[in-house]
Amino acid sequence: MSTRSFLLPERLAQYYAQVAVREPPLLAELRAETARLPMARMQIAPEQGQLMAMLVRLMGARRCVEVGVFTGYSSLAVALALPADGYLLACDVAEDWTAVARRYWARAGVAHRIELRLAPALDTLDAELRAGRAGGYDFAFIDADKGNYEGYYERCLQLLRAGGLIAVDNTLWSGRVADPAAGDEDTAAIRQFNERVAADPRVDLCLVPIADGLTLLRKRE
Ligand code: CA
Repeated sequence: MSTRSFLLPERLAQYYAQVAVREPPLLAELRAETARLPMARMQIAPEQGQLMAMLVRLMGARRCVEVGVFTGYSSLAVALALPADGYLLACDVAEDWTAVARRYWARAGVAHRIELRLAPALDTLDAELRAGRAGGYDFAFIDADKGNYEGYYERCLQLLRAGGLIAVDNTLWSGRVADPAAGDEDTAAIRQFNERVAADPRVDLCLVPIADGLTLLRKRE
């Protein structure tokens, strides 16, 4: 959820947007187009795209995987940060929303860096592992159905090289994870995921309270 950082009060969010958001024009256009869709809340916030692009550049990432494309804001932000020979494996099941993504990837001139696989992401990730690509990725972004977060995480962890990074979206879930009255399945799945990775010795962890909560997990050597 949340196309803005929900922990910032409105006035401070406006200030933040004025002084700290640098959004490429095509991403701004995509955000505006997506905002008209009924599921617009699934789009990530611009400051989050900016953070992910910075991480990708800092890491010198070349091979990335994304679980949950929607209309392509995060994949476009990441693809624009990749080097010319960079590669992004984009996993989703929705043909209509990813058609929007494809249109923007083409307009941005990064379509050749992105391979979209329209299939359940667990299957796509398993196929990558079977193809011998364990350890072959630098960066993964998980932002899809919350009930499968643990399954996506386990597979992405295998696909990453040591020192690689997994970013997981919506880990603060508009605050509902800390609300004892919230007992729905998605909230329960995110709580369980958060507790699991907090105790996982295979990764370094930092939950960044940006947007709807972005958990960064670095695969240890
Ligand atoms: Ca999300």
